Amino acid sequence: MSLAPYACDAGRSRGRRHPEAPAPTRNDFQRDRDRIVHSTAFRRLVYKTQVFLNHEGDLFRTRLTHSIEVAQLARSIARPLGLNEDLVEAIALAHDLGHTPFGHAGQDALNECMADHGGFEHNLQSLRVVDKLEERYPDFDGLNLCFETREGILKHCSRANAQRLERREPGGVGRRFLDRTQPGLEAQLCNLADEIAYNAHDIDDGVRSGLITLEQVAQVPLFGRHHREVLRDHPQLQGRRLLYEAIRRMLSALVYDVIGATQHRLGATAVGTVEDVRAQQPLVCFSEEMRAQSMALKQFLFHDLYRHPRVSETTLQAQQVVRELFACYAARPEEMQAGFTARSDAQRAVADYIAGMTDRYAMREHERLTGRRLLAPAA
Ligand code: MG
Repeated sequence: MSLAPYACDAGRSRGRRHPEAPAPTRNDFQRDRDRIVHSTAFRRLVYKTQVFLNHEGDLFRTRLTHSIEVAQLARSIARPLGLNEDLVEAIALAHDLGHTPFGHAGQDALNECMADHGGFEHNLQSLRVVDKLEERYPDFDGLNLCFETREGILKHCSRANAQRLERREPGGVGRRFLDRTQPGLEAQLCNLADEIAYNAHDIDDGVRSGLITLEQVAQVPLFGRHHREVLRDHPQLQGRRLLYEAIRRMLSALVYDVIGATQHRLGATAVGTVEDVRAQQPLVCFSEEMRAQSMALKQFLFHDLYRHPRVSETTLQAQQVVRELFACYAARPEEMQAGFTARSDAQRAVADYIAGMTDRYAMREHERLTGRRLLAPAA
């Protein structure tokens, strides 16, 4: 793997919060990736909702398969750009570790419950998981990941939370949200790979679910162009093969567009080091035309899929499950597992506890505590 001068080099990492001896055969970003894969939070992703609830079907994406797809896309863009593949893989696999059960519905409800106690942001929660909540090492909490990995995991952060982070860790991962500087290119890339991944797989899952049709998506210019080209090349093709081939071509177009547009910008700004990158505008990007088309696809998915009445129905129930769980644990902390019950930051302990749950565990706990069954799979 040959690294560009503006890539993050594991040998020049800003290091771990708790110093550790180097590993004999793996660099520090490989080690981060391995720690993430072995973490408990990573295994839970398999039972967490991406868009469709876990029990709605075995073939829909979950947070786990989504994260693996993001890692795949990020790696295939990183290599031709000379960026650090180990680092993008680590960031991509960890980027959703802090997601609540039930996807965005869960996170919105938890954020409401925490309104008077600092709120709840899933990006910040992902950082809490790797910094604090994982319990695997004798000498420290969390996974003790490198600065660059942690920086990539903290994709967004409110100013208030950045100030809190900055007080705990001066000059650390919260700083760039106060200075308004950029993270390294690997972090920027994972951000875009996330968007590419969900745009593509939500078309697949959306059509599979029957909530949107192939004909509807074909009206969206970015997908429609590839759909037409596939039919031109294979006039007999239909059904799932037609859908897959159009998505495959769209994904390739998105990936090559990012590689081209980013190479162009890197050339135009003549960045030489990671420090140069941080001081610039974002450099990993779509071309202007592709940015607009990707946006249009996102808006279509937002209106026609994420806000589909059938999705909204589960959204409301999911929010109710989270709100009622929160109320139950806040009133009776002893209902939580040891380690969460006696914490002095009682509300945050409840938020950490709920955020860590898989969809099905949250449903079971809700039924146990309230005697009512919401979101139950159709018999
Ligand atoms: Mg994601």
